[in-house]
Amino acid sequence: MAAERLRFDVAIIGGGVIGCSTAHFVKRTAPEASVAVIEPDPSYEFASTPRASGGCRVQFTRPENIAMSKFSIEFIRSFGTLMSVEEHASPDVGWIEGGYLFIVPPGRSKRWRPTLLSSGQWVATSSCSRPRS
Ligand SMILES: Cc1cc2nc3c(=O)[nH]c(=O)nc-3n(C[C@H](O)[C@H](O)[C@H](O)COP(=O)(O)OP(=O)(O)OC[C@H]3O[C@@H](n4cnc5c(N)ncnc54)[C@H](O)[C@@H]3O)c2cc1C
Repeated sequence: MAAERLRFDVAIIGGGVIGCSTAHFVKRTAPEASVAVIEPDPSYEFASTPRASGGCRVQFTRPENIAMSKFSIEFIRSFGTLMSVEEHASPDVGWIEGGYLFIVPPGRSKRWRPTLLSSGQWVATSSCSRPRS
């Protein structure tokens, strides 16, 4: 029997978070487009996606990186609404905004301060003594 030949407008190789996000945004941009996500391992045993510990922060200083991080955070905040399908319950990704605490040695604070300020994050300056032993 000849293998069935399938044709799609867009074929995405790999169904981890990047492949699935790409499929989602292609469909949002062009709902009429047919999209196939080709994923050989439905258990995702070797994929990075299920291993991610779930941290999300504005990590880089370039404006485009800051914009992407902020977009992602907003997207995750709205995930339940954006991903709800008809009568099914909205998916809960367990998103908790706990924040990050960076403790920077005095010699590095000059380098870090503009990075954090440029991405709209809070900076507090304090000092603590080094324990004697
Ligand atoms: C321990 C750990 C913790 C992490 N923590 C965080 C975190 O806190 N925050 C964060 O933002 N990121 C984190 N990351 C990084 C994040 O998980 C990855 O950047 C992200 O999951 C990559 O997604 P991906 O879709 O590119 O790759 P993957 O999730 O690896 O997906 C790739 C998919 O492609 C498939 N594939 C491979 N080859 C082929 C082929 N030839 N044909 C078809 N399909 C193929 C695979 O089966 C796989 O399912 C962490 C990563 C690890 C390992």
